[in-house]
Amino acid sequence: MKVIVVGSSHGGYEAVREVLADRPDAQIQWYEKGDFLSFLSCGMQLYLEGIVKNVNDVSYATPAGMRSQGVDVYTEQEVSAVDAASHTVHVIDHRNGAERDEQYDKLILSSGATPAALPVPGNDLANIYAMRGRDWAIKLKQKTVDPDVHNVVVVGSGYIGIEAAEVFAKAGKHVTVIDLLPRLLAKYLDEELTDILTKEMEKHDIKPAAGQAIKSFSGQDGQVSEVVTDQGTYPADLVVVATGIKPNTQWLNGVVDLDEHKMIVVDEHQQTSAADVYAVGDATLVQFAPTDGTRVPIALATNARRQGRIAGKNAVGITAKTPFVSGSSALSVFDYKFASTGIKEGTASAYGVQTKSTLVTDTFRPSFVPDEAGNAQVWFKLTYAPDSKRILGAQVLSTQDATQNINAISLAIQAQLTLDDLAYADFFFQPGFDQPWNIINVAAQKALRDLK
Ligand code: FAD
Repeated sequence: MKVIVVGSSHGGYEAVREVLADRPDAQIQWYEKGDFLSFLSCGMQLYLEGIVKNVNDVSYATPAGMRSQGVDVYTEQEVSAVDAASHTVHVIDHRNGAERDEQYDKLILSSGATPAALPVPGNDLANIYAMRGRDWAIKLKQKTVDPDVHNVVVVGSGYIGIEAAEVFAKAGKHVTVIDLLPRLLAKYLDEELTDILTKEMEKHDIKPAAGQAIKSFSGQDGQVSEVVTDQGTYPADLVVVATGIKPNTQWLNGVVDLDEHKMIVVDEHQQTSAADVYAVGDATLVQFAPTDGTRVPIALATNARRQGRIAGKNAVGITAKTPFVSGSSALSVFDYKFASTGIKEGTASAYGVQTKSTLVTDTFRPSFVPDEAGNAQVWFKLTYAPDSKRILGAQVLSTQDATQNINAISLAIQAQLTLDDLAYADFFFQPGFDQPWNIINVAAQKALRDLK
């Protein structure tokens, strides 16, 4: 069996690993059009802040390591077309311009996405950057130490934008974060929690400019110097645009079914509309657990990896379905750590779901434990369906690491648990770790009282 995998990021990597594990005799060809295998954008902040010193370490596979396991690795080689009827791909070798066709029995696509440019005047000026992939990582790193960069404007306050803002604030730059939504991080947390984080960012010289639409970028000599919104003008020596992504699927038009946003249509086995062609990762939608599997875009490595494994299994004949997901993610913002999953009060209307939420706050450990021993405040917000009491989402925030609670809630959503299930669920207690009642128990108990 010959399996061709396109794309060497999270989804492609896991597909290769799965095929290797299940069918060690399979011939695997793995293609990456860039010159570097498996760069991990998730680790970019660690590199930009100098915690990881070498950009090439922000990776999880090397060509030599994968070749030693029998995988044929091709970097700087782009799969430019697919003929699904004849099970053939067309490959361009960017090192020398040579072109060739390769046959496959199974094809797994993880071509991912690229940052979307803002369609406003001046978007082609120099020093307007994106934050994704190794090339941008290297360019951004240079700007963190560039003495001519004083003012950095980040456009978009999702987790990528906030990572960029923190990087440049820590590098001593004046940072402004502009977002169209009325609050920073609005898709991840509700207002009670974004209020806390916005104050924390302001404390670190990050200026929030929420609820503003970008009108244009302007500059001199081809360089950006200002960002103009519907409410103001912000000086900028560097702009980092993190407002969303577009799937890398132009080359798949007419090969597999794409939806109106050019995302690859897949079924629960990651199978596309073409026989023996699977697709995974940011160029596909995932099935959202809180809404019983409606398809939504949630661009996370976790999703790409899970899908990659499932596609690999199905490709070698092991029938497997991708589970519904809740979109669980976590981030630190200076001293704070937060995580969230599922539906928030602020996103419920977008999903057309009726929700109710209960916010609880307490110390991380029993009150007799001194603050200096690690006993910060924790905020936990639980979101549920008021009629069925089904768990739909949760958010947690603290300067201590309380984020693992969100994994428990993710599981609760997937298992369709209710407030009654969580109110007295068995969670451990030890004063070194938590309270006699875990904050999930506390929130579920309070929610049940709130519903009376
Ligand atoms: P991509 O990562 O988009 O990669 C696709 C690859 O395919 C690219 O290398 C591309 O060059 C190659 N390719 C495309 N077309 C072709 C072709 N025709 N031929 C050959 N090669 C091709 N997610 C988390 O879960 N946790 C995090 O902490 C997190 N942090 C992030 C931080 C940043 C700054 C960014 C940008 C993203 C982060 N993500 C995180 C999201 C995560 O990186 C993506 O969800 C994930 O990378 C998607 O993987 P993918 O396989 O779909 O493709």
